[in-house]
Amino acid sequence: MSFEELGLSKEVLQAVEESGYTTPTPIQEQGIPLILEGRDVIGASQTGTGKTAAFALPIIEGLLANPSQAIRTLVIAPTRELAMQIETEFKALAKFTKLKTVTIYGGVSMNTQIDRLKKFPEIVIACPGRLLDLMGQNRIDLSQIDTLVLDEADRLFDMGFLPDIRKIIAAIPRKRRNLLWSATMPKEIRKLANDILVDPHVVELARTAPAETISHALYPVARERKLPLLTYLMNKEAISSAIIFTRTKHRARKLAEQLSRRGRRAVALQGNMTQAQRDQAMGGFRKGRFDILVATDIAARGLDIPTVSHVFNYDLPDNPEDYVHRAGRTARAEGTGFAFCLVAPEDIDLYNILEEHIGKDMFNWTSHPGFDYLNEPESTGKVRINRGRDRTRPGGGTSARVKRILGRPIDAKEDESTAASVEPPPLKPAFGRRRTRSPRRAGR
Ligand code: AMP
Repeated sequence: MSFEELGLSKEVLQAVEESGYTTPTPIQEQGIPLILEGRDVIGASQTGTGKTAAFALPIIEGLLANPSQAIRTLVIAPTRELAMQIETEFKALAKFTKLKTVTIYGGVSMNTQIDRLKKFPEIVIACPGRLLDLMGQNRIDLSQIDTLVLDEADRLFDMGFLPDIRKIIAAIPRKRRNLLWSATMPKEIRKLANDILVDPHVVELARTAPAETISHALYPVARERKLPLLTYLMNKEAISSAIIFTRTKHRARKLAEQLSRRGRRAVALQGNMTQAQRDQAMGGFRKGRFDILVATDIAARGLDIPTVSHVFNYDLPDNPEDYVHRAGRTARAEGTGFAFCLVAPEDIDLYNILEEHIGKDMFNWTSHPGFDYLNEPESTGKVRINRGRDRTRPGGGTSARVKRILGRPIDAKEDESTAASVEPPPLKPAFGRRRTRSPRRAGR
C-alpha cells in the first residue's frame, strides 16, 4: 500500500515525501484508515515503528478538512523530550499547511508557552504537570478538543501521571476521538482504556518485544570491570552513535565524565539537569557534537535518533518493558542495531526476569578474555553458553553452574583502569560499604 492509497491530501503527501517516507509502515497502514474514519484506536506497537506519523497524519488530515482557530488536538506525552519529538514530527508533516503546534512542559518559562497559546494553535502536545498548571490558571482553552492522544501510556502510568490524566480528561469535551498508544498493556492502562475509549479498534503489531532487526548480546562482567569492558567494546565496535543506560542519575553523570576523560565525546542526560542543559545535551547528540549519550530511562524515553547504532545497558533495567524501550532507541524505523548488556553477578535476578519476558533465544552470551568472570576454559572468546533453566533446584531460574559463577563475591568499588589491561583484577569480597537505600530505586 502507498501513502497515496491511504487517501492523504496533496500538501500532506508532499511533506511525507520530504520526510523521506516512501511506504507506510505496518502500523501506519493499519492505523491511518481507522483514525481517518474517526474511530477510537488502541495502538499496541513497538517503539520505532512509525507510530507518531500513524496518528499525526490522520490528525492533520482531519484538521485540514475542518479548519478552525482553536486547540482541537491534545497529545499527552510523559516526558519533555518525547513531547518535543512529537512536535517535530507534526511540524514536518504539516509543513505545507498553516497548522500550528505548541508544546507544553515544565522546567521552562510558562510565559513563552502562554504567548504561543495566544496564536491559536490547533495542536497542543503536553506533559501533564505543566498542562494542569496552565489549566488551573485558565491560560488554556481546551473546550474545542475533538481528538485526544495518550502517547506512551504505559510510561505515563509508570511515572504516576494517571490521576493527572484523569483530571485533564474530565476537563475536555466528552465527544471526541481517543487514541491511546502503549508499548505494553499493564492492567491499569487496560482499565483506563476501558474507561475512556468507545468501541476501540486495537492496532497491534506484535507482543511487546524488541524489533527483530536488533542483535542482543550479554557480557558477563564483574561490576568493577564494567567501565574497562565498555571502553573495550566501544573501541572494537563500529559505532556511529550510542546511548548508554545507567540505573541512576548519579551513575549517568559520573560515567559521562569518565568517558569524556578518556577522550570520548560523551554527554549525560538525566533528570537532575536543568531543561536548558538537557536541551543542550540532546541537541549536541542529535547534531553529532557528541556521539555518546549516557542516560537514565526516564530521560531517554522515546528518543528517536536514527544514527544510534548501539545501545549499551551499563546497568540492566528494572523491568523488561524498559529493556524493550531502551533497545528500541536503535534500529529506528526498521534499520539494524545492537543492544548490549553488561551483566554483573548482582544483576542476575533482573536478567532472569528479562529472559522470562523476552525469551532466552533472543540473547547471545558473549565474553572477552580479561573481562568475563565466567572465565572457565570453554567460555573465553565468543561463545554461547547453554544456560538451561532448572526449576527443580532451590532458588533455580539460572542453571546452577552459572549461578555459582555469577554468585561470586565481588568488590563493589568501581575500577577506573583502562581497557588495555586484559587480566581481570582479583575478586575480593565487599566489606565496609553498606548501602542505605536500594541503588535500583535511588536517584532516578
Ligand atoms: P516512531 O515509532 O514514531 O518513534 O518513529 C520512528 C522513526 O520512523 C522516526 O524516525 C520516523 O521519522 C520514522 N518513520 C515514520 N514513518 C516512516 C515511514 N513510513 N518510512 C520510514 N520512516 C518512517
